[in-house]
Amino acid sequence: MYKRFFMKKQFETRAIRLQNEQTGEREHSVPIFPTSSFTFNNAEQMRAVFASEEEGNIYSRFTNPNCRELEIKMASLEETEAGVALASGMSAVFGALMGHLKAGDHLICSRAVFGSTYQVLMNWLPRWGIETTFVDGTAPSTWTKAVQKNTKMFFLETPSNPGLDIIDLEQVGSFCRAHEILMVVDNCFATPYLQRPMNFGAHLVTHSATKFIDGQGRVIGGLVVGSYEHLAPVQRFLRNTGPALSPFNAWILSKSLETLSVRMDRHCANALALAEWMNGLEMVKNVRYPFLSSHPGSTIAKKQMSQGGGLFTFEMKGGLAAGKLFLDNLQLCSLSANLGDTRTIVTHPASTTHNKLTPEDREMVGITDGLIRVSVGLEHVEDLKADLLQSLR
Ligand SMILES: *Cc1c(COP(=O)(O)O)cnc(C)c1O
Repeated sequence: MYKRFFMKKQFETRAIRLQNEQTGEREHSVPIFPTSSFTFNNAEQMRAVFASEEEGNIYSRFTNPNCRELEIKMASLEETEAGVALASGMSAVFGALMGHLKAGDHLICSRAVFGSTYQVLMNWLPRWGIETTFVDGTAPSTWTKAVQKNTKMFFLETPSNPGLDIIDLEQVGSFCRAHEILMVVDNCFATPYLQRPMNFGAHLVTHSATKFIDGQGRVIGGLVVGSYEHLAPVQRFLRNTGPALSPFNAWILSKSLETLSVRMDRHCANALALAEWMNGLEMVKNVRYPFLSSHPGSTIAKKQMSQGGGLFTFEMKGGLAAGKLFLDNLQLCSLSANLGDTRTIVTHPASTTHNKLTPEDREMVGITDGLIRVSVGLEHVEDLKADLLQSLR
């Protein structure tokens, strides 16, 4: 199934051409397979497929041709062996954790992770006796202190949401090798087009496909990719517990990957242009973008990412009130919880996604009251500048 022919082809070619075989209708664009189960020629073939001796579809909770196409493509783009598609980014994160951790285990997690990931680690895993120590991902010298005899995993996100912290993947890789623990990276913000954590020693990479992979704000989906060995327990988790991705969503996401490279080029170009322009404005402070030299992690970002990504942040000088007022006055940009869309989305984390944290906890993960996060879309950059400027004024 992993087509050898494509292994030496470039990223863009694989993103487009790694698709299912034709059904016999000579279709050019892959069809959707809305079927809950599949049939077999005879009892012996059915036995062989169930025993994984022969490749084949059984039941769409386990897999489906559309999911498999998406899985193979993402594994190839992340430069690893296998993938598993799940119903959402959070089920991907949860599946990676559940596949590899058990009662009595401990994991280390960078403090700046997605809000729901933080909630899973803080409120759900302890119910099953799995404890987490949060560390500053940007301060490698502090990580060793967090290691315990039962530490099994280092989970991290880079660039982080929403603070755009950059964590040195090479350092995490050697740290995890030295302590013989699994390295799991949420690669949602960068996508495999900009950053491939497997090449720095990651064992698993998770994705919210809802963001840049779909890229058009249509579906929820998630993926975990890794070696056959490390992915097998995640596949069993999906098979037994059932957060399956629908064939329709898998079809959308596989189609979306065909345009990932061109979309990311434009997201990144627009974001860099806006961040540089805002950096020169009197009205705002602390403009943060991974490829701006003022970003404390810019050297590391340039080492491990090919471009700076589609998001930047800045601070309103007037704090919470100014932040809300700024959002109210936007005319073009959307107020929405999503990111990685063709449409530019502006959020104010302190009053929305992170309002459940205390101000002290927010401060610790770099979310000040005036922080504004911009997920830069594919609109013309001059129109975006004009909208941001009129609202700032
Ligand atoms: C959105 C997001 C998730 C969760 O993905 P869903 O598809 O919303 O479940 C996980 N990690 C990061 C970094 C995200 O931005």
